[in-house]
Amino acid sequence: MARYTESVCRICRRENLKMYLKGDRCYTDKCAIERRPYPPGQHGQGRVKFSGYGVQLREKQKVKRMYGLLESQFRGYFRRAASAKGKTGETLLQQLELRLDNVVFRLGFADTRAEARQLVRHGHFKVNGKRVNIPSYGVKPGAAVEVTDKSKKMLRISEALETVDRRGVPQWLEVDKKGFKGTVKSVPNREDLTMPIQEQLIVELYSK
Ligand code: SF4
Repeated sequence: MARYTESVCRICRRENLKMYLKGDRCYTDKCAIERRPYPPGQHGQGRVKFSGYGVQLREKQKVKRMYGLLESQFRGYFRRAASAKGKTGETLLQQLELRLDNVVFRLGFADTRAEARQLVRHGHFKVNGKRVNIPSYGVKPGAAVEVTDKSKKMLRISEALETVDRRGVPQWLEVDKKGFKGTVKSVPNREDLTMPIQEQLIVELYSK
């Protein structure tokens, strides 16, 4: 399967936003966007003026890369959000947030979404008591997500849990660090999603 193989710091620099894609390093002065706060590439420091389409495209790319998705996957989420009731942009973000890899990341069992995805794929988590190894699995409100008994010994997971407070666990989730488990209390509200995202731009882009 195709995947993004370039330096993830380039993504942050391209979108001019700290996306915390590298875990610990993002909280140090080694963070690339702190050191070089301009887009990557030869013309990165030149003046760039985006057209309306360009602004919409950048917003879509930003969200897609934040969640580590490919275009076809992201478009699939948009299609489902567009055919669901409610505001398309908000539904899109809610669907992305409820992906199992994102929930694992938000609960603090992994430092980054990429790490969370790998841990899920390797079968380290259970949802409502059943092992699930599909990162895109949509977690329902009320569901319990927990680390499997064998994996509770994993240093990677316990170290990630120790540092989760620096980014905080969102209100729509509840984590029991000692028990290595968490609960999805509700579907996240738009106000719970604090990243600087203008989802309307994505809706406009795909509605052309
Ligand atoms: Fe982004 Fe900085 Fe983390 Fe690199 S180190 S992924 S630039 S936040």
